[in-house]
Amino acid sequence: MSNRKLFLIGCLFLGGLFNYSYAISPVLDENDSTEFFELDDIDAHKDFVSTKSFVRDTVDIYSNPACELYNYSWTSERLNPYRIKIDSLPDSVFINCSDFVYPLRSNHVTSNFGMRKYRYHYGIDLGVKIGDTIRATFGGKVRIVDYERKGYGHYLVIRHNNGLETVYAHLLEVLVNVNQTVKAGDIIALGGNTGHSTGPHLHYEIRFLGNAFNPTKLIDFQTKKLHKKDYYITKKDTYSHAKELKAMAQARYHKVRPGDNLSKIARRYGVTVKQLCKLNKISPNSILRVGKKIRYK
Ligand SMILES: [Zn+2]
Repeated sequence: MSNRKLFLIGCLFLGGLFNYSYAISPVLDENDSTEFFELDDIDAHKDFVSTKSFVRDTVDIYSNPACELYNYSWTSERLNPYRIKIDSLPDSVFINCSDFVYPLRSNHVTSNFGMRKYRYHYGIDLGVKIGDTIRATFGGKVRIVDYERKGYGHYLVIRHNNGLETVYAHLLEVLVNVNQTVKAGDIIALGGNTGHSTGPHLHYEIRFLGNAFNPTKLIDFQTKKLHKKDYYITKKDTYSHAKELKAMAQARYHKVRPGDNLSKIARRYGVTVKQLCKLNKISPNSILRVGKKIRYK
């Protein structure tokens, strides 16, 4: 029997036993498009040891939350290995958020999700005191624990059973390991100021199939509660920032050199000084510092 068939038998066997489900309908078989594949449930792991032989030659779906949704991908190598564009996301996906726990003590938002000058801020920043406990927002499994000196500092990524992934960055210390199963509310790290950070804070991201969305769509940071326990991810609302991302991807910059002025830069790229001023939020008389980036598209 082929590995594919063995895997399908395993999936169908498990289908009736798991508690979570999601409203995307991954097709197990071309003739079986109505079948909902059920998501992994951490509490159910121990009950299924005897069924492991069904899938021993395939991806270990027991340890890969939301495996079908993520096309069985489970890697600690990259934050977003999925390469799924927002345009290609399903129109509406049900996310079961019933086990939510707010991730820290503070509800003080120090920086919002959204456009920055030359890059996009894919998370929300929340004030912490160094050493504050940071908790997993939903149950799932730790996919990445890593350190980026010029970026996230100490950070971790959890794949949740409900299909979301969350990122916790600039930590003092991570207290869990890759492949560790966590429950919502488990202490996973201590807040800090590591990496590219100008003060102690938690950089918190929520991603779905690799694409970050504004955590305020799901969480009311004032009250530390969810807006709703059942959340539907939609391209229209959840990813309402898609236009900004597209515009940013198309943006082009000129690095100011000695002797440059706005007229010269405008001529070079076939635009007007007025357009440059609007794009860069500067006045025609602004002094251009050598090395500064001027957006021309
Ligand atoms: Zn941030």
